[in-house]
Amino acid sequence: MSQPRSYDVVIAGGGVIGLLLARLLTELRCGADALRIAVIEPDPPMPVSDESLDLRVSALSPASLQMLDSVGCLARVPAHAQCAFDTMRVWQNGDGPENDHAICFSAAQAGAAELGRIVENRSVRAVLWSLLEEDGRCDLLQAELTALTERAGDMQLQLTNGVAHTRLLIGADGAASPVRELLGIRSREITYGENALVAHLQPALPHQATAWQKFLPGGPAALLPLADGRVSLVWSHPEDDTEHLLALDDQEFAARLTRELDGVLGELSCTTARAVFPLCSAHAERYTGRRFALVGDAAHRIHPLAGQGANLGMRDVAALSSELREFLRQPLADPGDPRMLRRYERSRKGDNALTLRTMQGLDGLFTSGLAELAGAGMGMVDRSPLLKSMLARYAMGG
Ligand SMILES: Cc1cc2nc3c(=O)[nH]c(=O)nc-3n(C[C@H](O)[C@H](O)[C@H](O)COP(=O)(O)OP(=O)(O)OC[C@H]3O[C@@H](n4cnc5c(N)ncnc54)[C@H](O)[C@@H]3O)c2cc1C
Repeated sequence: MSQPRSYDVVIAGGGVIGLLLARLLTELRCGADALRIAVIEPDPPMPVSDESLDLRVSALSPASLQMLDSVGCLARVPAHAQCAFDTMRVWQNGDGPENDHAICFSAAQAGAAELGRIVENRSVRAVLWSLLEEDGRCDLLQAELTALTERAGDMQLQLTNGVAHTRLLIGADGAASPVRELLGIRSREITYGENALVAHLQPALPHQATAWQKFLPGGPAALLPLADGRVSLVWSHPEDDTEHLLALDDQEFAARLTRELDGVLGELSCTTARAVFPLCSAHAERYTGRRFALVGDAAHRIHPLAGQGANLGMRDVAALSSELREFLRQPLADPGDPRMLRRYERSRKGDNALTLRTMQGLDGLFTSGLAELAGAGMGMVDRSPLLKSMLARYAMGG
């Protein structure tokens, strides 16, 4: 990139959240003109050409799926990379999800066809990227943002291969967000001393299009259904146990997991290597200011206990794109206007904070000495149709 380019909006970060936002913004106009947009991403996704399945999958709510559908993405995510689930079973104590300390949600209870889908992140990202490439209205800049300078009418962005100017910079650059750091925004972080271990396993019994989750003393373990009949494991555990869990051979590991999960899907067998992600929660002190906004993991990072990180990011995208759509209808509207951006922040920060606190509370409750009380609480929720349908609707992004 030789000459500095000028944009109305630059999105730093081409993960699922940044690309979905870019796709929505390509439809907007700035007064009479098309919005000039760019995404900066150092590591663009590769097209997915085979039927292998990456370890990173997300449980997406119907609201998130609807957004992906509205931009033409969902229909292009291959069938092997998405699996609908209509039931969720959550339990705590030893004798499986049929006991008193268990909750069962079904889509039918919430009056829906499905509770959500387990979707491969890599495929969603690759499809969004190629949609933007084909469409041609958004510049896709393969570069890293390394510095920024606020100027009178815009922001100057220093990229690894040149300079760009923008009236609005959106940080969608993930949990370690360089944009957040460069702007000097503090993020309150909580580390749990836990890691999440992920792997795909083959169960002996059918997964029944159900998301299974057990609260073990060290943290929750979830088995999420995949389209090819396997299940995707997300097991939060104290970091002191990580070395031991990784050192077990495949048979030992699968046998330990089968036992821990009360053989709910019969014998499990390993089909992939195991990967580990450190767990932490973080919340940026503010999301917006003059000429900038943060979305997705750059603004908030959440324990994967309830599979909400990407779903919350997509709600940010919906809120910010809708504020921009309204505002930019006005003649001479400046997309970097701090009052408009503040409205986006006000509409999302409370919801994100509540979800973060709820997940912290749940994790603490189940991994503390109050586990018995929590188990009794689950039984109570399961026997209350009203509470259950409220929780199911929340999990579905409603
Ligand atoms: C084990 C685990 C399980 C999870 N399960 C679920 C689930 O079931 N459901 C759910 O909703 N969520 C889940 N999540 C959370 C979800 O994966 C994240 O919330 C989501 O991927 C965040 O997307 P993002 O686009 O905001 O950030 P990222 O995916 O981190 O993307 C950030 C992008 O910014 C780019 N970037 C970085 N630095 C720069 C720079 N200087 N300049 C330009 N670009 C830059 C990066 O290359 C990257 O492409 C899970 C997370 C974990 C760890």
